[in-house]
Amino acid sequence: PNANLFAALRAAFPADLDAVAVETDGGLRYSWRDLDRATAMVANLLQSLDLPREPGGMPPRVAVQVDKSVEAMILYLATLRAGFVFLPLNTAYQSGEIEYFVGNARPAVVVCTGKNFAWVSPIAFQAGTRHVFTLNDDRTGSLLERAAHCSDRQAPVPRQAGDLAAIVYTSGTTGRSKGAMLSHGNLLSNAVMLKDYWGWQPGDVLIHALPIFHVHGLFVAIHGALLNGSTMLWHGKFDPRRVIADLPRASVFMGVPTLYTRMLAEPALTRAQAARMRLFISGSAPLLIETFNDWHARTGHTILERYGMSETIMLTSNPYRADPRYQNQSERRGGTVGFPLPGVQLRVQGEDGRAVAAGEIGGIQVQGPNVFAGYWQMPEKTAEEFTADGFFKTGDVGQQDARGYVTIVGRSKDLIISGGYNVYPAEIESVLNELPGVQESAIVGVPHPDFGEVGVAVVIARAGAAPEPDALLATLKARLANYKIPKRCFVLAELPRNTMGKVQKNLLRERYKDLFT
Ligand code: ATP
Ligand code: MG
Repeated sequence: PNANLFAALRAAFPADLDAVAVETDGGLRYSWRDLDRATAMVANLLQSLDLPREPGGMPPRVAVQVDKSVEAMILYLATLRAGFVFLPLNTAYQSGEIEYFVGNARPAVVVCTGKNFAWVSPIAFQAGTRHVFTLNDDRTGSLLERAAHCSDRQAPVPRQAGDLAAIVYTSGTTGRSKGAMLSHGNLLSNAVMLKDYWGWQPGDVLIHALPIFHVHGLFVAIHGALLNGSTMLWHGKFDPRRVIADLPRASVFMGVPTLYTRMLAEPALTRAQAARMRLFISGSAPLLIETFNDWHARTGHTILERYGMSETIMLTSNPYRADPRYQNQSERRGGTVGFPLPGVQLRVQGEDGRAVAAGEIGGIQVQGPNVFAGYWQMPEKTAEEFTADGFFKTGDVGQQDARGYVTIVGRSKDLIISGGYNVYPAEIESVLNELPGVQESAIVGVPHPDFGEVGVAVVIARAGAAPEPDALLATLKARLANYKIPKRCFVLAELPRNTMGKVQKNLLRERYKDLFT
C-alpha cells in the first residue's frame, strides 16, 4: 500500500464529493471534488517540471512563502501528492531570512506572492532553484495559470512511511531556526491518533483561523479536518469578531493563546454564541490560567491545552474524555499540558541523566512514531539532541505529576542559574501574574558579576493599573526563596511576541544584558 500521506487524506474524503470541504470568509466554497481536482492539477504541474534527481534519492523540495489561502493549502496537498517535500515559510520573513532558508534548503521550486517576486526570485535562482512561481491570496499568479493546463487526474506518487514529506523550520524562539525533517509516517501517525484522542465525530466543522506555515495550522488543524471529512470554515486572517460570528456553525476551534485573549475582549463572546461548539484547543505557547478560567466563565467551555513542537508534532494533550491509560481521568487541568499522547513515550530527565521522581523538574525527552528524523543538514545538532537510547531532547523543562499530568516550566535555554541555583522562570511568572495590577509577566536571566546570572522581571500592567516594580518585588520576597527573586523589575506596554504568540525572551535578554555588568 502507498504510505503517501495524501493518499490517506484523500481516502478520508466523504462519499459525497459535492459536499462543502472549505468555505472561506470571502464567501467562496470548495467541494471535496474541487480539492481533489485542484491538487491533481498542481501535482501534475510539479511533476511535469522534470526536476533533477538528487544524490541519495532525496525528493525535490518546494519552498512556499505566500499569504494564507485555500490555494496555498492545495499547494501543500499537491506537493505531498507529487511525492515532493513541502517547506512552508513564515510570511513575515524578509530577504535576509529567505536567503538563509532558501540557501539552506536548496529548494527546486519556490512559490512566493506576486508582490515579493522581484526580490525573492534572484535569491532563489542564486541558490540554484529551477522554478519560481507566484501565488496570491486572490487565486491569481503563475502557479495556478500553469496548473490550469494540467490534467485533473493524478495517482499519488508511492511513498514509504519513512520518506520525507515536509521540512518545517522551527520558530527561532531560542536561536537560529532549524529545519525539522518530518516523514509521511510522522505526520499520518500523529493525525490518526489525534482523530481518536480528540473525539472527532461525523458532522464536526472546524474553524481554521491559524497561519499555515506552522505545525499548528498546517498539520494539526488541516489534517484533523481532512481525515475526518469535516468542513473547514476558513479565515484568511484572524479577526475575533468574525470567528465569534462563526461559532454557531462550527464545533471545533484551534488557537494559540493570544487568539483566546483577543476573543475574550469581545462582548459578543457569550455562552449562547458558543453553545454548539464541542471543543476548543489551545497550544503553541503557554495558556495563562486566567485565560483558561475566563474562557470557562464566559462560554461554559473548558479549553483543552496540548503541547507539541515542529520536531514532533503533538506530544501531550489534556484528555478530551476519560483516559483509560491514566485512571480514567477526564479533567482538563489549566496550567498543564495533559498526558503524553498514545504512542508517545515521555520522560523527565534530571541533570544526572536519570529519570526524576514524579513531580520533580527536569528536561523533557520523547520518543514515538511522530518524532522527526533529524534537522536538515545539521547532523551534529541532530546527534546532540538525541540520547543514546533514541529519545529526543525537547529543550523544554517540566514535570509530570503522580496523576500523569505534564507541566512545562520553561525552556532549558531560558532557565536561570543564579548563584548555582536553578531558577525556573514559569514558577516566578505564575506568582507574579497573580499579583494585583499584573496582566502578565516574563522573567529572563542576564549576566551578573557575583551570581553568574540573575533574573529580571518584565511586567505588563492590567488596563488602568500601574503596579510599582519595587512593591511587586517586595511581595515576591514574601512568597519565594530569596535566590528566585528577580533583581530588577520593569513595567512595559507589551511583551515581544512572534507571529505564533510566543514570547521572544531572547530579545528581552538582549535588552537587559548590560544591567549589571
Ligand atoms: P526554536 O526551536 O527555533 O527555538 P520554537 O521551539 O519556539 O523555536 P516551535 O517548534 O514552533 O519552535 O515551538 C515549539 C515550542 O513551543 C515547544 O518546544 C514549547 O516550548 C512551546 N510550546 C508549544 N505548546 C506549548 C504549550 N501548550 N505550553 C507551553 N509551551 C508550549
Ligand atoms: Mg524548539
